[in-house]
Amino acid sequence: MPGAADIARNEKLKQRLQFYEDLGLAPFYRDRTASSSESAQSQPPLSAAVSSSHPIEEAPLPKSTLKSAPAPPIAPPAKSVAPLSSSGTSLFDAANKLSTETLLQIRDDLGECTRCKLHSTRNKIVFGDGSPKAQLVFVGEGPGADEDAQGLPFVGRAGKLLTQMIEAMGLQRPDVYICNVVKCRPPGNRQPEPDEVASCSPFLFRQLDSIKPKVIVCLGATAFQTLLQTNRSISHYRGQWLDYRGYKMLPTYHPAYLLRNPAAKADVWKDLQKVMAELGLEIKKKAK
Ligand code: SF4
Repeated sequence: MPGAADIARNEKLKQRLQFYEDLGLAPFYRDRTASSSESAQSQPPLSAAVSSSHPIEEAPLPKSTLKSAPAPPIAPPAKSVAPLSSSGTSLFDAANKLSTETLLQIRDDLGECTRCKLHSTRNKIVFGDGSPKAQLVFVGEGPGADEDAQGLPFVGRAGKLLTQMIEAMGLQRPDVYICNVVKCRPPGNRQPEPDEVASCSPFLFRQLDSIKPKVIVCLGATAFQTLLQTNRSISHYRGQWLDYRGYKMLPTYHPAYLLRNPAAKADVWKDLQKVMAELGLEIKKKAK
């Protein structure tokens, strides 16, 4: 009789395999027992190389790998999108980027915030979670019901999917930093309103300047539009390298969107592969 731990492990494995199948990687892991002549083919195409990592059986890359890895010039040059309400990087921005402010100090400054009307309906402030030295930061829109209850970002269904995405990159959640544009849950999971974004986003900017990540991944339109100070649609820029005040930034779909549109997972996986290349994260090849 399998024990509870075995059942939990099997369920996790099942979910992971489903995730890879959604990414379009299923044919690979089904063919893993193919003849040695097939497996001996020299350099596989990128999609196959990614598949060959079979991260389920691999230990995650250590943090030191992430920190010391060179950034191969795979990604195209960052493309700037002209902001609609700002003239670009200012001296104020430059000074902020030299900030030595810690996340703890920023959290202290936020306090039991009442700066916008979202404070009246929240349960817990969801400040952010992860490594203060992360080279990769994910920015979402705002907390949902689960996040509001726990005070942690991305812990509901969309959060589980984000965790799978992070693990597929060979990382663990504590290796990265995850936060949102607004720190309190908008009622009914509606989009945050402009005045709420205006009140809360300075704390996001300060978080980013404190962490100084190598790459920022915007999850969904709100994060993309807030960082770039634009009202342009994310659809034209998804998967492209952009510049946010000197940080490399890549917008992709929000995991909640992927739950509604699983077919888009393959696009997101392509985007994450760009991020992996930028961070020097290599897909380990399975030992023969
Ligand atoms: S959303 Fe941000 S600005 Fe508004 S009350 Fe919450 S922490 Fe304060």
